[in-house]
Amino acid sequence: MAHSPRPDPAMIGGVVRPSFARLPQPETLFKERAHRFRTLAAEHDLKPYLLFLADLCEVQHDVQTDLLPVELPAADDLSRAREFEMPPLDRSRFTPDAACEATLNGLCSCISMRALTPTADAALRTVRNADAAARRAMMESVLSDSIPVEAIAEHVFVAAALQVHFARLAGQLDVKNIVAVADGVCPICGGPPASSLIVDWQGAGGARFCACALCGTQWNYIRAKCCVCGSTKDVTYQEIEGGPGTIKAECCGECRTYVKVLHHQQDVLLDPIADDVASLGLDLLVRETGLRRGGVNPFLIGY
Ligand SMILES: [Zn+2]
Ligand SMILES: [Zn+2]
Repeated sequence: MAHSPRPDPAMIGGVVRPSFARLPQPETLFKERAHRFRTLAAEHDLKPYLLFLADLCEVQHDVQTDLLPVELPAADDLSRAREFEMPPLDRSRFTPDAACEATLNGLCSCISMRALTPTADAALRTVRNADAAARRAMMESVLSDSIPVEAIAEHVFVAAALQVHFARLAGQLDVKNIVAVADGVCPICGGPPASSLIVDWQGAGGARFCACALCGTQWNYIRAKCCVCGSTKDVTYQEIEGGPGTIKAECCGECRTYVKVLHHQQDVLLDPIADDVASLGLDLLVRETGLRRGGVNPFLIGY
């Protein structure tokens, strides 16, 4: 399988330094993720769900062919965001527009050609029959991480469409202009990380990058520091005994949350969204200790 190119390392004082952020490449992101979901599905307890997500990611890839180009905010707004250390595509201020609507329509019609379970099919029909106002309300629930528990299945389609839309926007930004916003906050859309990666990229080996489920950006973040509250006081790690040791839960005693850490140095195929879903067993283990998930992944909300 082809992998996305490594981020451009910059020479700083004779030392190769990685860029602070790695922007998504929507033309490969979803195709690679689909492949990963399909690989993970084999012999997995969640096989039907992982195969559904593989199909959904393929559709996220395919739908882009027929979409019009997305438009970034005005240059003035982007430079103001940078000046005030605000996310340039702030999801909390984002108003779902016609381009989002077109992405959701396209995604719904592409996924309707796939074999769906009765539950997924009913959820898809709900989205397709919803009027513009109801769809925008669903988009707003996804963007504010407040998906209602009784309507998770519908929102998975809406979240998938927004991922495509935001990744297409983020992919057009200039990585050199990206600045850190705050602990636990995506520097592009202002959302929380889904999980984090210890990467093996040239010039950045062993560095940690947090991964955003919405816009697909990855950003550099100190290791052994809580990805939610930024505390370094009481950070410990848990993993499944006898497992491959490639995914650990970084647990914070201060804010009582955990975020997964995926080790690319042990397995370069780990995907921050797909492997987050497939390692649900680790969530169940850590939750027994009373901690709650700090990472936000719309494909894991029902679990
Ligand atoms: Zn983001
Ligand atoms: Zn914390």
